[in-house]
This record gives sequence, C-alpha cells and structure tokens, in this order.
Amino acid sequence: MSEAQGEKGMSEASLSRRAMMATLAGGGAILAAGGGMLSMAAPAEAQKRGRAASGGTAVAAAINDAYTRYRTLQEGKNADYIPALAEVSSAFFGIAVAGSDSKVHEVGDSKELFSIQSISKVFTAALVMQESGGAKIEESVGVDATGQVFNSIHAVEQFRGKEMNPFVNPGAIATVGNVKGGSPDEVWAKILQIHSDFAGRQLDVNQPVYKSESDTNHRNRAISALMSAYERFPMDPVVAVDLYTRQCSINVSARDLAVMGATLAFGGRNPVTGKQVLDRAHVPGLLAIMATAGMYDDSGKWLFRTGLPTKSGVGGGLVAVSPGKFGIGTFAPPLDAAGNSVRGQRAIADIVRALNANPYAQTG
Ligand code: GLN
Repeated sequence: MSEAQGEKGMSEASLSRRAMMATLAGGGAILAAGGGMLSMAAPAEAQKRGRAASGGTAVAAAINDAYTRYRTLQEGKNADYIPALAEVSSAFFGIAVAGSDSKVHEVGDSKELFSIQSISKVFTAALVMQESGGAKIEESVGVDATGQVFNSIHAVEQFRGKEMNPFVNPGAIATVGNVKGGSPDEVWAKILQIHSDFAGRQLDVNQPVYKSESDTNHRNRAISALMSAYERFPMDPVVAVDLYTRQCSINVSARDLAVMGATLAFGGRNPVTGKQVLDRAHVPGLLAIMATAGMYDDSGKWLFRTGLPTKSGVGGGLVAVSPGKFGIGTFAPPLDAAGNSVRGQRAIADIVRALNANPYAQTG
C-alpha cells in the first residue's frame, strides 16, 4: 500500500475510506451507546429548548426545515482515533445561524458543548495574520489545498513543509509555532483569547478530550518534528504540538460557531459584542483558504455545492460563512470519509439554497 493510500481516512488505523463505505453500504451509522462524556443533557431535551428559541423568520424556517429533514439521518461515524470523541452521542444535532444583528437563530442541540478540533485552525491562523500579516502564513506553510487527508505526512515531504495551508495538521501546528510570545503560557493565552473574542464569550478547554488526544497523538508529534526540521516555525516542536492539541480541545457550541462565522461574515467584527476581532483586511484571505481547504480533500466538492467558505472539525462541528449575510454553525458528530459532519453538510447545503446565500449566485 502506498503512503497516500495508507493515509486515506482519519488515520491509517481507524477510519479508512473502504471501512466507511462498508458502513454506509451496511445501512447507516453506528450509534454510540449512552450519553456522551462531553454532554450530559439528553438530545431530546436540548431539541425542545432549541426549537423554542427560534423565531418565525425565513432563517428560522430554513433551519427548522433542515433540522426536521436530517434529524434522524443515520449516516457516517464518530471519529474514534481520538478515543474521547467516540464516546459522544452520535444523536446530537444542532444548528445555529447568526446575522448582522445580535440575534442568533438556533434549533436542536445548538447549545451543547463539544471540542472545536480543526475549526480552531481558522482562528489561530487569524491570530498570526493579525500579529505578523498574511504573508507570514503564505511564506511559512503556504495557502494551497493539498488534496490529501488532513494529517498527511506525504504532503509535508512533497515541498519540505511549504505549498500547503494552515488548515491541515502540519500547517496548523506550524501556525501555532508562529504565534509570538515569550512563553508557552503567553502563546496559549493569546490563542484562547482570540477564540473567545470570535465567540463573544470566554471559552474553555475540554480536559477529557485534551487528555485523550495528548495520550494518542503520536502522528501529530511526528508531523510537528518534521515541520520543525524544515524550519517552518521557531517554537519547540513538543510545545507546539501540545498547544495545538489544547486549542483543538476548546469547547464550543453550534451557537458559538455561528457567531464566530458571523464575525468573519461581517469583516472581522463580532456582531454580538461589537468588538473588531480581526482587521478587515485579513478576512478575505482567511475566507479564501477556508473555501479551498476548509473541508480537506472534499473542499472542491463542497464549494461546488454551496459556494461557502466552511471549516470542519472531527468533533462534529462545521462553521460556514456567507459573506455579508450570516455565519452558520452546526454540530452532528458522525463524519463522512473525509472527516466532515454528514448531517451538518446536508443541513448547511439546504439552508444555503433556501436563503439564496451562495455568494456566486449574486451575479446581478
Ligand atoms: N485534533 C485533531 C487532529 O489533530 C483535529 C483534526 C480535525 O478536526 N480534522 O487530528
């Protein structure tokens, strides 16, 4: 088996494309038993809360329709290469949309907390852009889609750690390693702060997920060492991968993701708090990388379907940005073979269609 084939799926050991296809052909998802360790509320209770929170607007109608359509869809499988993620209930499903006013429309398990995982890559890249400029990202790791899985080592080797992007693991770890700071604590404080500023509330780390990934992230440690060897960042590679693992474990809800997306949709200004979190000048570049690389090797397919810059995480989250209109956040843990939430993608695609929110459709 070639290296590239070996890397298909979440990791060589866990979620191969073939295994996923067999699961889908076999008639649907494997539902994790019992409640998740991350969230104790039963999904049904959370659904009622979410429904009550929605108003009667077109946005509310669109998210309610998508919620009803896909609530019981059983496709895909939780990520399990980080053991704690396999423990989360596969039944959770939340959708939230945040617009230019401070109102957030939400349905289902939109307030449940889960680990942000790869979606964090967007916000740490934003921090480096803010501190050092967009050129820093372009020079250190590149802004091109790899067309390969997010933890590909082959993609690093191909161009000695360049010609990739900050949204695959090597680029993301290097991006953490390029945050300025005199100590790991100082760097961490900045990373957590920018995530909190985007969300409009103080965020926290999910400790069980952080521990679970720290105990098992041998591949990311190898990637960090390799990127360091290619001089892609000045930080100690062991520290960089630890900070990266911590940032991936930050707890968010679908509602948080909607507000984070809306902050990007409105030029870097959080519509709930009014705070300018990121200079407007950096937003187009960030959205461009989301559009081309935010959904890993399925980024082109996703852009073709929706036109929206979007970022996924293996915790089951998605954040999509409709520039000038709104941000969408979803939470539904079962993933497809590329590592993207199945119900989240279906819901967002339908909402975009219902609200005519594909930016490429706005051609006058
Ligand atoms: N923490 C995860 C990892 O490094 C993030 C991956 C993801 O969400 N795609 O593998």
